[in-house]
Amino acid sequence: MKICVYCGSSPGNNPKILYAAEEFGKKIAERGIELVYGGSSLGVMGILANAVMENGGRVTGVIPGNLFSKEVAHTGITELITVEDMHERKSKMAGLATAFVAMPGGFGTMEELFEIITWNQIGIIQKPVTLLNIDGFYDPLLSMIHQAEHAGFIRKKNTDILQEATSVDICLDICSKDFRNP
Ligand code: AMP
Repeated sequence: MKICVYCGSSPGNNPKILYAAEEFGKKIAERGIELVYGGSSLGVMGILANAVMENGGRVTGVIPGNLFSKEVAHTGITELITVEDMHERKSKMAGLATAFVAMPGGFGTMEELFEIITWNQIGIIQKPVTLLNIDGFYDPLLSMIHQAEHAGFIRKKNTDILQEATSVDICLDICSKDFRNP
């Protein structure tokens, strides 16, 4: 099983989010799940990847060549795949992973999250997508999605593509359950 995690290339300013990234990385490694992510050593991305590696897990990073220095590519992970551009990065990560999780992050994280939801919506892939909503970070985003549903722009069955987890354990249970019963 391989989980693709989208998360911030910045650390943010809420320690609970950083603890959650460490806990998530540790538990991924303990469960024998491989991490697929954007290959940076910075921010939440770097903390997550380090936690997996420090606990004996396996990490594959996918990074465009032109971001290698800007995002400070992580050279201490199991495998670092260099791709041409952002589009190739996203399709590579989507092809490798069996489930997707978004942790707190900025525009990059949210862009990746919404793209993978829409790929499920139009049937390009059928893989679980979970929002790891630490300390209510994503509450406003969830409200916006429900508002769009109530306004008739998102069908209920498509709202349900995105599952919410408020803890690392719940998140891993959702990913594992859907993986066994797709
Ligand atoms: P951010 O949440 O803005 O810190 O970005 C998190 C990660 O998403 C970083 O590794 C960004 O390079 C990446 N990212 C930003 N935009 C895109 C995009 N259009 N396609 C793929 N990755 C992206």
